[in-house]
Amino acid sequence: MTVRPVRPDDVPAVVGLVRELADYEKALHEARLTEEQLAGVLFGESPALFGHVAEIDGHVVGVALWFLNFSTWRGTHGVYLEDLYVQPQHRGAGLGKELLRALAEVCVQRGYSRLEWSVLDWNTPSIEFYKAAGVPAQCWLTDMDGVLVHEERALPGAAEFLQRLVEKERRFLVLTNNSIFTPRDLAARLARAGLQVPEESIWTSALATADFLATQLPGGSAYVIGEAGLTTALYEVGYTLTDTDPDYVVLGETRTYSFEAITRAIRLIGRGARFIATNPDVTGPSPEGPLPATGSVAAMITRATGAEPYFVGKPNPMMFRSAMNRIEAHSESTIMIGDRMDTDVVAGIEAGLETVLVLSGSTAAADVPRFPFRPSRICDSIADVIELV
Ligand SMILES: [Mg+2]
Repeated sequence: MTVRPVRPDDVPAVVGLVRELADYEKALHEARLTEEQLAGVLFGESPALFGHVAEIDGHVVGVALWFLNFSTWRGTHGVYLEDLYVQPQHRGAGLGKELLRALAEVCVQRGYSRLEWSVLDWNTPSIEFYKAAGVPAQCWLTDMDGVLVHEERALPGAAEFLQRLVEKERRFLVLTNNSIFTPRDLAARLARAGLQVPEESIWTSALATADFLATQLPGGSAYVIGEAGLTTALYEVGYTLTDTDPDYVVLGETRTYSFEAITRAIRLIGRGARFIATNPDVTGPSPEGPLPATGSVAAMITRATGAEPYFVGKPNPMMFRSAMNRIEAHSESTIMIGDRMDTDVVAGIEAGLETVLVLSGSTAAADVPRFPFRPSRICDSIADVIELV
């Protein structure tokens, strides 16, 4: 078994593999590549495409076709993998991995930091193949409490994990269902715990809610029960905050629930305002014991009005989908890390992501088998996730 750069005499075999791949992707009718074209782009005066082939006993059985790209956002060069294919009968022997290793070597030699690729969302066999071939995840979503911090203290390995994401130029967001704080507040809170996370890399249920409303009804109005995290997010997407005839009543986390505000929310919903809540959590943590949270207050409003809210935060996978849009992530190359089976992991699965459960927060190892779904991987803590980046 050999992996080597493609040669002119491989062209007929490579065209054959491209057609097999198109057939595998149920799109054979769209594959119009000819041998002349491929020879031209690979070996013409200014090559537009590069390739490596995997050979067994003199037969070409696998191919990686790639080109050079430049990220205008990050200002860095990289390699973009156009096609990776190994004939099904030769899979499982590590040929896909070898082809990717050859590309990674190209990146190292040229000083490139990115190896990117994309597979159509619906194409499960291809996604599984790419994953099995060991392409590292491009994007990471990580929960905050119980994964990176616990009661304002950084958990062991959290700083190193964030540093590794930056070194490897991975796109990432730190997620929280808490809608009290703005990203700036949270970045400052994390910095006090010794974790450097820029505010652009924080995604809260308040931001997800604002993003959702801006898509549903651009330039709408809302009556808000919440703190700066939520009001700022809504202002920033162009929402008007009002207590007269709003399009929505938006309920978020607050530290001081006012009977007056809840009464107003109930009356506005009674008059036709749509009911949205940032997150369904019924309690939040405090050093003295649990505090009633958004879900509990939502239940009171529901009881009084008969109206159920639409919850945007976890476990609604919407929270992850909007986060992924924000960093231009694809589900097949994104990993989600969380400490709760019933929110992080289930939402990650529903958003089509690979999931990592860490046992440093809410869910204990003994609880995992009770759930009817399981994470892709279980780690003791974020310290064990560093090597996966
Ligand atoms: Mg958590």
